[in-house]
Amino acid sequence: MSEMVMKVRCTSCGSKKFVYTSKGENPTEHHGAVCANCSKPLTLQDLLPLTPMDPIIKCLIGRRKTG
Ligand SMILES: [Zn+2]
Repeated sequence: MSEMVMKVRCTSCGSKKFVYTSKGENPTEHHGAVCANCSKPLTLQDLLPLTPMDPIIKCLIGRRKTG
């Protein structure tokens, strides 16, 4: 079993760790993935430039935008 490694870095605190959130008490606040340190929602800006867009991340981020 291997850990999922993705090249991301929080633009707010610099943490390279993030966690997936799941729908819970507040579905409207669900955003898919947040910084593990400061809980900032993961955005495109947090993905390092050379990182191939992971389909899962793309999905999570895309969920926040319409169109
Ligand atoms: Zn952070």
